[in-house]
Amino acid sequence: MKALRVDAVLGLQWGDEGKGKVVDTLACRYSVVARFQGGPNAGHTLYHRGHKVVLHQIPSGIFHEGVYCLIGDGVVLDPEVLLREVEGLRMLGIDPLERLVIGENVHLILPVHIWLEEVSAEGEKIGTTRRGIGPAYADRYARRGIPVAWLDRSDFRQRIEELTAYHVARFPGAPPPIFSESFWMGIELLRELPRVRLSEWLIQFDSVLAEGSQGTMLDIFAGTYPYVTSSHTTIAGVLAGLAVPPQAIREVYGVTKAYATRVGEGAFPTEVFGEEAQWLQTRGSERGSTTGRLRRCGWLDLVALRYAIEINGVSRLTLTKADVLCGLPQVKVRTGGSDTHPEYTILPGWQTLEDASFEEFIRFIEGFTGVSVWGVSTGPSREDWYERIAV
Ligand code: GDP
Repeated sequence: MKALRVDAVLGLQWGDEGKGKVVDTLACRYSVVARFQGGPNAGHTLYHRGHKVVLHQIPSGIFHEGVYCLIGDGVVLDPEVLLREVEGLRMLGIDPLERLVIGENVHLILPVHIWLEEVSAEGEKIGTTRRGIGPAYADRYARRGIPVAWLDRSDFRQRIEELTAYHVARFPGAPPPIFSESFWMGIELLRELPRVRLSEWLIQFDSVLAEGSQGTMLDIFAGTYPYVTSSHTTIAGVLAGLAVPPQAIREVYGVTKAYATRVGEGAFPTEVFGEEAQWLQTRGSERGSTTGRLRRCGWLDLVALRYAIEINGVSRLTLTKADVLCGLPQVKVRTGGSDTHPEYTILPGWQTLEDASFEEFIRFIEGFTGVSVWGVSTGPSREDWYERIAV
């Protein structure tokens, strides 16, 4: 039997590092691209034949013919969002149903989960995207959730109604959630898709690219709790979310921007404000692809990056969006201090990414983290890319 090889693309910051672009660049080298955690809060922005496409549930590999796309067990899935995405892709001439497969242990996001974020103020404080992801994971861990494996059970609808009634009873007076027609259409769509036991399905392939959502600093355990997401965004999430053994993991692609951004509340030691922040937001188009919210911006935090590299076992560090910083006389990187009093090292800026000072920046990152910068993304499109170390 062939040994299964699993490589992973993980965000090393607070999400939005450009993972979608990196996955899109690497996808054609794999048989399967798989999401292993998260829900429709991830918004990977991709460009396909000049069209901007944001994918929330379907793995970015869908634009590559012949590549299977797996929504793995660790994911929570909103049937309505899936339906919209499938329809959108069909309009671009891609039929995702030919290559899309769902793990049987994926859990459903129900209308009541989205409703819960509206009627309770908890999500607001954490800065969630209000897509029902947190409540869906909470139900999953409270062993009340609904896995897609139950779609064929005769009491499937009853289970959904019971769970909805359970939550509605906690908020007397609030108008109950609405089950839209498109929710049930999404459920019908799910019935059409192959639902698989991952350990049995994956063994027919030789290579899988696991596509992370959010970033390491938002991991439910390793991140800046409580301002975190509800799942494991780290390498641990790949093992659990795809049901693969640790021996299967080969390369860990860790993605970081040349600066930093964060959405929502929570510690952000290198944050900048005022004009500096506006400059980065504008130059880097730092607005959430799912929520439209402006992102908080700051300098690259090498202390946090080194931590993320260590806990994920990153072997191939990938740098994105250094082009955004072109033209600055100097750039700062955090190299020490505490979270409240970070210390910086100032490095010369670059006019273009061919400048020697950009290579100097890369070498500084390598020296500090102890890992080579393997890939460099030089712009949003697939072609804006080079690999520093030949595979
Ligand atoms: P993801 O969730 O990690 O995939 O990140 P997002 O899609 O939210 O944000 C990344 C954004 O940056 C997208 O709009 C990408 O098209 C864009 N992007 C990715 N890499 C680069 C790069 O190297 N330079 C520039 N200028 N934009 C990039």
